[in-house]
Amino acid sequence: MFKKLSKPKKIILDNIEFSIHYTVRKNMKRMLLRVQNRGEIKISLPKQLFLNVNGFILEHKSWILEQHLLVVMPFDRGSSFYFKAQRYTVQHHNAPLSLIDENIFLHPKRAKKQSDEFYKKEAKAYLPQRVEQLKEEMDLEFNGLRFYCSTRKWGSCNSKRVITLSPYMMKLNDEMIDYIIVHELAHLKHLNHSKEFYAFVEDFVPEYRRIQKEINLLSSAF
Ligand SMILES: [Zn+2]
Repeated sequence: MFKKLSKPKKIILDNIEFSIHYTVRKNMKRMLLRVQNRGEIKISLPKQLFLNVNGFILEHKSWILEQHLLVVMPFDRGSSFYFKAQRYTVQHHNAPLSLIDENIFLHPKRAKKQSDEFYKKEAKAYLPQRVEQLKEEMDLEFNGLRFYCSTRKWGSCNSKRVITLSPYMMKLNDEMIDYIIVHELAHLKHLNHSKEFYAFVEDFVPEYRRIQKEINLLSSAF
């Protein structure tokens, strides 16, 4: 019988609860630790070291607690806010959202709501006409355009020919936005990611591979 190795999901250090997330890498010789978000420990490790996780974390306890305090959370003062691929620094004030030079002023208690409303407003002002233009160029028809704030995907297209776009696309630049729209529109013709699908995308966005890489790179900062 094989005993399943235990991977702790949580650990408490100095009264702070940390969740633990794992990535297994075959060719690694030792464990690597990161604290990317407050209260979140990320561990990359080779399989055979699962058993030592607790000890490893305790050994690095003071470093982890230091990192935890250094991590800036979204909407904290000094954190980043992206709009049209420009970085703005979050500042706090008790008033509606405003963009001034390289700063964005948000209400500390309503920051997330203010920010979502901002992206939705910008998305509704910019995307419908752009989708319309690209649809004409691609000679396609669809049944509806919806907006849904998703952090998981930029857009989707269902079999009822309804396109959904995430207002968070407004964090990207125009070229990236166009590629995402073309990608979703192309699903009206191919509801998959086949060679034919990408060949069709390429007809309208020849450099889609480069743009995709740039989107991945930029969005790793979000
Ligand atoms: Zn797709």
